[in-house]
Amino acid sequence: MEQDISSRQIAIYIHIPFCLTPCGYCTFFRIPYSKSSLEIYLQYLHKEIDLFLQYHPDLTYAKSIYFGGGTPSLLKAEEIEDICSYFIFDKETEITLEINPLQITENYLSALKNTPINRLSIGVQSMNNEELNLLDRKHKAEQIKDKIELCRQLGFNNISLDLIYGLPGSSINKLKDNLIQFLNLRPEHISCYLLTLDSDTPLADKIKERIVSPLPDDNLLAEEYELICSELEKARYEHYEISNFCLPGKQSKHNLSYWNSLPYLGLGASASGFLPPYRYTNPFNLNDYYSNLDKGLIMPEAEHCSSKQLIADFIMMGLRLTQGIDLNELKERFNYNLEKDKHLQLDNLYQLGMIEKNGSYLSLSSKALFVSNTVIGELI
Ligand code: SF4
Repeated sequence: MEQDISSRQIAIYIHIPFCLTPCGYCTFFRIPYSKSSLEIYLQYLHKEIDLFLQYHPDLTYAKSIYFGGGTPSLLKAEEIEDICSYFIFDKETEITLEINPLQITENYLSALKNTPINRLSIGVQSMNNEELNLLDRKHKAEQIKDKIELCRQLGFNNISLDLIYGLPGSSINKLKDNLIQFLNLRPEHISCYLLTLDSDTPLADKIKERIVSPLPDDNLLAEEYELICSELEKARYEHYEISNFCLPGKQSKHNLSYWNSLPYLGLGASASGFLPPYRYTNPFNLNDYYSNLDKGLIMPEAEHCSSKQLIADFIMMGLRLTQGIDLNELKERFNYNLEKDKHLQLDNLYQLGMIEKNGSYLSLSSKALFVSNTVIGELI
């Protein structure tokens, strides 16, 4: 008889920090790939999982597993399989691999079919070769259609594509063209990220040295965001989160755990986890990550969140969803009445047309989505 494990399931994030070549805009924790360093890393990752499951056997039940990076598609299929084998999941469990387009080959995909991976998140970023060049991405736009067809032929029918907007020298026309090409590929899910450049990245240096065009101004960025929302909605994608769009029923289950403030386990260097009331982040360097595990330490410097922090996180993350937050849930989970506590701020935001109420749900209006941080800041 199949066991109902749904009430015990948890989202699991696994960070694989290795990359073949660095991208000039990247601010993620990543390190140059070598076969031997990946092997050592995997030994420690196994150690971390062993320790977690030894102390918290309930974390075995996976609602979703997400391999992110870095470049997790540098893992061999057997290595993915080995990691997944620690966890108990069912056919509803979403298991995602972020995959670099260059690694989409018939051999690799066939091998992946022997693992539980059932969702691919492909780092396409742009369908314009000039932009790909600017981002130091090594694939070419014209390869993408065939790569996605190959994924489909081999039975991967839950595909998410990343698009980056707000690039140096971007224009409404370039973005329109990008969106047409993305939509022609008909992925189940599209994540649209605004390029945010740290000042110490190589791409930021090139802008300073005027080797590449400047970043678009705020007006153009707002127009670009509006264009993305309207074009994807016209193509019947549901705009379910500030930066995420999907065909019906194809929301990212894994990311929904973050946005709904549900627990998640973070594994690997730099990964964060939330095991209420604790939040933790693993070290951003391998030596510290390894030395903690050598000492049998997991969840280093875990922070015991106060109920005030948990409420703020619930509001901040939940308002990213276009359905908003359920004020009744806020009362039930945290005994907190937002309408009573922040009535002045709420009145003001209603008058400005920045928030809306639908039954017990409070959400950002569409005009507030692009300035969500400012609006949410008023409520926490
Ligand atoms: S592949 Fe991703 S993680 Fe690696 S350098 Fe490029 S942007 Fe950063």
